[in-house]
Amino acid sequence: MRESAKQRRLQQGFRLTEFRRRYSDQPVPVTRHHISRLAFLLAGLLIAVTSASLLFVGLIASQASTEQAIANEQRLFRNTLAERMRALVREQITVTSSDQSVAGLVLNFDPEYAYRAIDTLWSDYRHSKVMVISGNGDVLAESFEHYTHILQRPIFETPELEDLFGKISRLFEKNRVRVPGGYGHRSLQGLEPDEYALMGFTRIDGKPAMFGAMPVIPDDYEQVLPDGPPTVVLSAHYIDDALIAHVNAQLNFASLTFASEVPAAGSGAFHEVSDPDGASIGAFTWHSQTIGNAIWPTIIPVIAVLSIALAALAFGIAWRIGQLTSSLQASEQQNRHLALHDTLTGLANRLQFNRVLATSVQSLPQKPFAVLHCDLDKFKSVNDTFGHAAGDLVIKTMAGRLKTVIGREGLVCRVGGDEFMIIYRKSTNGAALHDLCMALVETANVPIAIRDEGMAHVGLSIGVAIAPEDGTTAESLVARSDAALYQSKNLGRNRHSLFSDFFDSSSDPGEPPLSLEDPKPYVRVGKTG
Ligand code: GH3
Ligand code: MG
Repeated sequence: MRESAKQRRLQQGFRLTEFRRRYSDQPVPVTRHHISRLAFLLAGLLIAVTSASLLFVGLIASQASTEQAIANEQRLFRNTLAERMRALVREQITVTSSDQSVAGLVLNFDPEYAYRAIDTLWSDYRHSKVMVISGNGDVLAESFEHYTHILQRPIFETPELEDLFGKISRLFEKNRVRVPGGYGHRSLQGLEPDEYALMGFTRIDGKPAMFGAMPVIPDDYEQVLPDGPPTVVLSAHYIDDALIAHVNAQLNFASLTFASEVPAAGSGAFHEVSDPDGASIGAFTWHSQTIGNAIWPTIIPVIAVLSIALAALAFGIAWRIGQLTSSLQASEQQNRHLALHDTLTGLANRLQFNRVLATSVQSLPQKPFAVLHCDLDKFKSVNDTFGHAAGDLVIKTMAGRLKTVIGREGLVCRVGGDEFMIIYRKSTNGAALHDLCMALVETANVPIAIRDEGMAHVGLSIGVAIAPEDGTTAESLVARSDAALYQSKNLGRNRHSLFSDFFDSSSDPGEPPLSLEDPKPYVRVGKTG
């Protein structure tokens, strides 16, 4: 399968990083940007969650206060309506609680008296519908506003009325008292209207109405009632604009109206009314003065201020984390550099050399390389002549020169006082290594000016071991490059020696480490200088 361009690029990138890590002695940056990015992301998330929670709380609070406001309005409306019904019954009492009414409506039905009584309820109290029902169940008089009809029709033609009449009769039985010659009614003084009258809502002539109904009873006991069911006066207000305006006079509810359709629960402010049997008649509806929305002008600035404060805090923390991460990263890189580099020259140190050598021998025999062991000649005399600081200067200068010659083809390390090790990969060819060593010796020979005190002259001795020919382990390559260096020193310094030019490694297949003092196990071959 063909390698994709992306894979090739990745591969190249990997090789470059590997190369830098192993040979070019360049620090490979370790990026931790994802930590600060994560911190910022978490901070953003925290702010979003907090703002959403505050909005949610605001929404719940606004809903709860709206519901509370509606519940309060409903209670107020219910009380106002009940008060209006009690008032209606009290108005009725002017006709129903009267000896004259007992005489003119109960004992001897007098149409003239009935006209007058009914007209009072219309003209004084605007009871738009009034009915007089006799104890034996006949409707004797019926009015609409100021038109009154005297008639005699049985109550069972209107089943709702028959029901009401039954209920009032039972209430009357509870309240009537025996008096000489018949019955009376206990005093209304101190009684609540619902103890002696029936009131509520019903449909009269198909129209929804608020009604009150009570028996006709004596007030001064000049008259007494006969035995049997009472004569009842029922009067009502149709639920029309006049009644609504009356009820709303104190309340001032917006758009208060009445509809036969009852709105669905939770769809705003309304009060449902039912007849005495519990059947729904309709509902009063109005626009609630919902204070829920009034919460937002308070809550929005709070949310904004909290969110900004939280954002500042969270982003501050995220920024600080980013800063700490960067400085941690920088100090980590510095530590890594210090652990693997020589402080005087900045070259790789022995630890780094050992690591790179160990990985290099793992790539054998595919990737051959050479180990160059270098030591300055007569360096001590620089220290002795010019002082230790001048010696340091010479070491630094030499380090720079060696690095310049080797360039990116290998790794130059300072492994001791005036000792350098080079892992060279470009070529292991004898002639090429010869040229390279000549160049290194030549550059080392250039005198170094020690301020205005004079010139320092040092030379360079080099020992070269080639992998895999001269050795395939780190230890053997170090030992053999060392043996070759010893050879260079022995031959008069300021030169290079290839291990294979002086020793026969085939005589030692096990490649034990060599000691500098004792190169004897090796059989010398070739030139001896
Ligand atoms: P040779 O030609 O045999 O190599 O002799 P040499 O004078 O170069 O001495 P040698 O390599 O045996 O010893 C190196 C000396 O370098 C020993 C020590 O006094 C000196 N030295 C070691 N480290 C430092 C350093 O960091 N700075 C300075 N100025 N001198 C050092
Ligand atoms: Mg030396």
